[in-house]
Amino acid sequence: METILFISPVAADGSLPKASLEALTAAKTLAEGLGAPLAVGLFGADVAPAAAAVAACGQVYAVTGEAFAPARYATDAAAMEALAKAAGATIIVAADDSRVSRALPGVAARLGGRIDAHVTAVAAKDGQPVATRGFYRQRMTAELTRTARPWCLTVSAGCYAAYDGAPGQAAVTAVDAPVTPAMTRTAVKAIVAPSADEQTIRPDAATLFVAGAGWTKKQADGAPHTAEASALILGFLGASKASLGSSKSLVDMGGDGEAVLPFLTHLHQVGQTGSTPRHQKGLATCCHGEEPHVVGWRFITERRAVNLDAACGWAQGKADVLYVADAFAVMKKVNELLG
Ligand SMILES: Cc1cc2nc3c(=O)[nH]c(=O)nc-3n(C[C@H](O)[C@H](O)[C@H](O)COP(=O)(O)OP(=O)(O)OC[C@H]3O[C@@H](n4cnc5c(N)ncnc54)[C@H](O)[C@@H]3O)c2cc1C
Repeated sequence: METILFISPVAADGSLPKASLEALTAAKTLAEGLGAPLAVGLFGADVAPAAAAVAACGQVYAVTGEAFAPARYATDAAAMEALAKAAGATIIVAADDSRVSRALPGVAARLGGRIDAHVTAVAAKDGQPVATRGFYRQRMTAELTRTARPWCLTVSAGCYAAYDGAPGQAAVTAVDAPVTPAMTRTAVKAIVAPSADEQTIRPDAATLFVAGAGWTKKQADGAPHTAEASALILGFLGASKASLGSSKSLVDMGGDGEAVLPFLTHLHQVGQTGSTPRHQKGLATCCHGEEPHVVGWRFITERRAVNLDAACGWAQGKADVLYVADAFAVMKKVNELLG
């Protein structure tokens, strides 16, 4: 009999991050499919609000204390190891966010188990747990089974709906995870994050807006209009709250010393050597739609593109709608309509 443990750090405000709630849905689905018990493992300064939010899921185990508040490998790994042991977990499910992804592989090693990361689905098949994940930029999908236990699985964001069960009174089992001075040598002094408007990568946005190299190329009058392009793109992002993506050509230009859009980094790159976002809708502008780029659109279900070239890649069955038009004119009008 398997014992499924969902595991998560608790945010400073006592809540669980959305990605963790999605992983909880995955863990719950697996437990129900296997007819196996589900336990919840939480760690942080104060886990009470999070424990109440997930009370209906199963037995809650908690490692609490100020030492477990910041994201830090030594204390995160110690907490998760203690929780896994306390719950007698054979399968551990967590979000594949940066904090868990850093520490959970170490926990798997300490427990003599195995880990598979970036899983997109977990299910019971013929009574066995099966994890699904993509390979080669999601060109291939594999179903994995393992005999080694505990089997740790980190679930990618956007694959499951966030758990939204009724809160309740949780019976919390306190778990001890001794903290030594060596474990707290790393201190988090401050978190420096851009403001919501400056942060243009927005995984939760409904729409992905992709900027291509055309925005910085010479236009009909023989001159580039980079400043205008910046204003149009930022204006659209500000009004629509869409997430910003880019083609490789455009982000590479910065490194080549060409005129660039200053708010773009390699983190914005979508495609074979970039990211594979999961927004419902995508709008590509001034981007040719070549295969190495469009492969990153695998999970974008409604696709539109604006390009001057009626024979661009998007016209070859890669977009639902191609507007053969000047993106400068189109986005100016769109921004006017958005007010
Ligand atoms: C191994 C490998 C990996 C790669 N990985 C990636 C990847 O991860 N991501 C990625 O993006 N690329 C990747 N590429 C590169 C990819 O093949 C293309 O070169 C790149 O996507 C082209 O970027 P682009 O469409 O922005 O630029 P361009 O090909 O220069 O296209 C610019 C487009 O803008 C249009 N345009 C210009 N002005 C306007 C206007 N006013 N209005 C409307 N349209 C206009 C033009 O018609 C043109 O179609 C990879 C290539 C290789 C070989």
